[in-house]
Amino acid sequence: MAELSAQDERLLRRAIEVSARSVANGNTPFGAIMADPAGRVLLEAENTGITGRNTLNHAETNLMNLAVTTLNPHQIATATLYTSCEPCAMCSGSMYWGGLNRMVYGMSEADLLEITGEDPSTATMRGVGCRNILQSGQRDIEVSGPHLVEEASAIHIGFYDQFLLSDQEKGLLRRAIDVSTRSVANGNLPFGALLADPDGNVLLEAENSDITGQSPLNHAETNLMRLAIEKLTPEQIATATLYTSCEPCAMCSGSMYWGGLNRMVYGMSEADLLQYTGGHQLNPTMTGVGCRAVLQSGHREVEVKGPFLIDEASVIHRTYWTT
Ligand SMILES: [Zn+2]
Ligand SMILES: [Zn+2]
Repeated sequence: MAELSAQDERLLRRAIEVSARSVANGNTPFGAIMADPAGRVLLEAENTGITGRNTLNHAETNLMNLAVTTLNPHQIATATLYTSCEPCAMCSGSMYWGGLNRMVYGMSEADLLEITGEDPSTATMRGVGCRNILQSGQRDIEVSGPHLVEEASAIHIGFYDQFLLSDQEKGLLRRAIDVSTRSVANGNLPFGALLADPDGNVLLEAENSDITGQSPLNHAETNLMRLAIEKLTPEQIATATLYTSCEPCAMCSGSMYWGGLNRMVYGMSEADLLQYTGGHQLNPTMTGVGCRAVLQSGHREVEVKGPFLIDEASVIHRTYWTT
């Protein structure tokens, strides 16, 4: 890899600083800046995927959107974009379409994947590489990287732990998925949930009972919260984690809040579920609000983790809703 000029190195460091600021502002650790040929910074952009509730809000795409609305084409054409991490296909494409001609990056996507792992909740695009995209159009974009890999990766190390699940928790979520399968065997809809104490001991389980109980309100999680209030102490509920095979609806999220739960882990998302249920009359899936919006809108926040084990959680749904 070619040596970086002192000016390029200084500017790439600044992009890495922006990636740290992105985390401080509640987002994932990615940052990008644009500088003119004299090395003056024209624009900066952080990732805003979490706070903007939009997984397309990558730092580089944010930066290119800003550039095309605030700079003139000549400024973009002669500028260099510095980014803390190798840009993905979407971001590379936005550089091409935005008229950029030079890009310098920190760590590679392969470096990033080593840190984020294979968990879909921390998905990294790989396999194409920015050069293959940036040099496949009607003009080539000059690419330089990876550089300053250790500095660029420092903020990433440990960051994704919050999105990952321990083996013990995976085991508990798998058991909730087993309950969803049992629910079907018992004549109901494919949803299951359980409560576990902080050591991972299962306290209670509940299946869906919409059909056998003749009530469309008998969702697994609401059934479980009703059972918890009957069988457990408030202290047990407050320290327990609820594992559910599918993202809870607004009613179930509300029952977790009113029941005094503080932590919930889910399998497939409601958006995933809707792909399988469509407009099925037994499950006109609620979407559009999302459990986080409900569980984090009260006087205390319920910690939410998910989606996880999406492939395993969706197995039963692939066949159930078609029959
Ligand atoms: Zn990207
Ligand atoms: Zn529900």
